[in-house]
Amino acid sequence: MSEKFETMGKKKRIALIAHDNRKGDLLDWARYNKGTLINHELYATGTTGKILKEYLGLNIIRMQSGPLGGDQQIGSKISLGEIDCMIFFWDPLEAQPHDVDVRALLRIGVVYNIPVACNRSTADFLISSPLFSKEYDKMLINYKTRMKVEMP
Ligand code: PGA
Repeated sequence: MSEKFETMGKKKRIALIAHDNRKGDLLDWARYNKGTLINHELYATGTTGKILKEYLGLNIIRMQSGPLGGDQQIGSKISLGEIDCMIFFWDPLEAQPHDVDVRALLRIGVVYNIPVACNRSTADFLISSPLFSKEYDKMLINYKTRMKVEMP
């Protein structure tokens, strides 16, 4: 099986997304970690990005709002190798009109083997990992080879 690797730079390209009931939580987390986050390249869905920019003055590359295609834009960037990790505080207690986009985004994060944090504890572990500020060779799984069924 031929696995490929892709090197993440020291400066990570981080996607930040939070559903409405989780925005306060993400804002709080980002405030606490602002000193680290400013050293990286930040992307966010529309409203999340607006809040992080307004309250913390973070420099954010903003997509459309999530329900209007922002999740898909982030997913597309992941598939192009333009996002290194994602902090996605999705709401486990409320249905979202764009649930299909949410699931697609979480799925594509797994396909491209990027670190994804969906709650604060995981986000804390991720941002405090020594790998967060180092280069990292991320394995790209060769799904074409994986999916081949070898017949006896
Ligand atoms: P928002 O989108 O940042 O524009 O609110 C988040 C989402 O629902 O995916």
